[in-house]
Order: sequence, then C-alpha cells, then structure tokens
Amino acid sequence: LPKSELNSLLDKLSKLGQIVAPTKDKDIWRYKEIEDYKEIDLNGLPWFSAKTFLFPKKHTLFEYKADKIQCKDSVKPIVLFGARLCDLNSFYINDKLFLDEFEDPFYKARRESIFLVGFYCNEWFDEYCLCASVKLKHYYDIMLVDLDDKFFIISKSDKGKELIKDYEDYEHDLKEIQNHRELQKKDLWKFHESKDWEKGSSKCLSCGHCTNLCPTCLCFDIYDSPDLDMKSGKRNLEWDSCQYKDFTLVAGGHTFRETRDNRFKHRIFHKLQYFKDEFNEYMCVGCGRCTRGCPKKIDWVKIVNELGE
Ligand code: SF4
Ligand code: SF4
Repeated sequence: LPKSELNSLLDKLSKLGQIVAPTKDKDIWRYKEIEDYKEIDLNGLPWFSAKTFLFPKKHTLFEYKADKIQCKDSVKPIVLFGARLCDLNSFYINDKLFLDEFEDPFYKARRESIFLVGFYCNEWFDEYCLCASVKLKHYYDIMLVDLDDKFFIISKSDKGKELIKDYEDYEHDLKEIQNHRELQKKDLWKFHESKDWEKGSSKCLSCGHCTNLCPTCLCFDIYDSPDLDMKSGKRNLEWDSCQYKDFTLVAGGHTFRETRDNRFKHRIFHKLQYFKDEFNEYMCVGCGRCTRGCPKKIDWVKIVNELGE
C-alpha cells in the first residue's frame, strides 16, 4: 500500500468499527478513539496498554432489583490500529485465560468486537523493551510493515484477508526484532528462596503501577454497590493488583501474601513461571511498561538475570 493511500485503508477500517490508535500527547503516546486521521502517530509505544478497550477499569456486571437481575453490558466494535507486536500478543495471552478453558462472556463480547491492525517494529522502541526474549507470535488480523514509501501488509485472519484481497501480491522478508537487553531463561523454582528478590522488594512501594500498565495483568475485584433500600443495586468489576496487600485478604482477616517480598516475587513468578508451567508460554510479552512506568525503576529483568550469580 503506497503511504499516500493510507487514508483509503483507514476508510475501509472505519466501516468495521471505531478506530483506536496511538496519538502523541505532549511527550507520551496514548491509544485514543480517533476522530481525525491526522491524530494518528505511529512513532511510539503507548504508555498505557490497550487492555482498557478489552477489559475496562471498571464496569457493571449486572443490576439487581428484588429477585430480578439485568445485564446492561454494551459493546461497540473497535479497530485497534497501529498496535505493536507485544500488545497484539497480550490478546493471545488474555484469550487463553478468558476464552480457552473458562469462557468469560464479558471478555468474549469485547474480544469478538475488536479488529487488530498491527504496526511492525523495525527498531526496538527503547531500552526497556525485551520482546525478543519472549518469542512473540504473529497474532492479529492484519499487520503493517513500514517500507519507507509504502506499507507491506500481512493478513492472518479471514477478515484481514478479505480486507486486502484487492491489493497486489508482494514478497518481503521480515527482519527479526532485536532488543537492547535480554532476559535469561531460568527455572525460577530453583531460586524461590533466594535473598536476591530483596533487590526489588526492598525498593518496591506496592503502588501497583506495574500491574496497571501491564497488558497481561487482568486481576480484578468484584463488589456490590447496594442502593439505600438494600433491595436493589449493582455488581461491579474493577481492576485490582497482586501488589496491594489486601489483594489476598480473606474472610477471617488472613492475608496470604503479607510481605512486600512475597508480592513482588509473586508478580515475577506469575509472568515467568506459573503461567509457563501451565501453558508452556511466558505471560510477559516484553513491552517493558512495568519497568518504564515504575516510580523506583525496579528492573526485574536484571534481578532475574543475576539470580544465582
Ligand atoms: S510499579 Fe514498581 S514500586 Fe510500584 S508496585 Fe510495581 S515494582 Fe513496586
Ligand atoms: S511484565 Fe512488564 S514487560 Fe512483561 S508484559 Fe507486563 S508490563 Fe510488559
């Protein structure tokens, strides 16, 4: 696709749903609903991931009145345009959790309403990226690759193939994405009791910023908001974080992960070990947001690499 014809592709895409794409706002990029194509800026990785469009920060699961329950979830079709391969792979991971073994109807409705249009990284974005260490998959409807004056487009789904069926065939060898740093593969179980975790936990503020930014962290809390008559109200779902002390608080007042050390270690184990033990994949897609956005810049990749040294 010649770059000068990008708007014609965007016109086609806008018929599939509301276009959401990276825009630059002061010094950072954000995914935003696009009203004017000129707002789109593909030169950076958005600070926040796209998970809010799949898994809103807060939503009402249902409203209840006496013994009647009413679900009012409304979903609008979205075209996620210009997402990097790391963000696209978060859909692969999240689909495993919410569609494979147990199907979450709220997630499913949103997921089926999203069309994924990627933008390939010819260069890594910054020093926090580690995608090359986690073996990303080609998981999208179509992917745009920047070839200076044109885009090479790869289609993966039937919908994607249909969208570009009139375009000329083209051959191009994709170059592998390289990163500035590498995550060493380790069996973390061997280091479960290591004191080295303190390098991170001693600085950690338990603020939960890392989990909020992470595209594959989808832990949540469910709570009711009763009306004053105590007969009607809402049941809500809201993001939560394993880094908060009350995340594992249960009836009777027991907290399973009382110490910061336990919580910090749990996050890394979940990303690199527990998920791998179960699905044979990392739960990390290498976007680097957790360290990029951490107020203490805790570099867990370095901590893992140094384990046992
Ligand atoms: S963002 Fe950093 S300081 Fe905050 S909980 Fe995560 S690791 Fe700890
Ligand atoms: S753990 Fe960090 S690098 Fe990995 S997907 Fe989450 S935010 Fe990105």
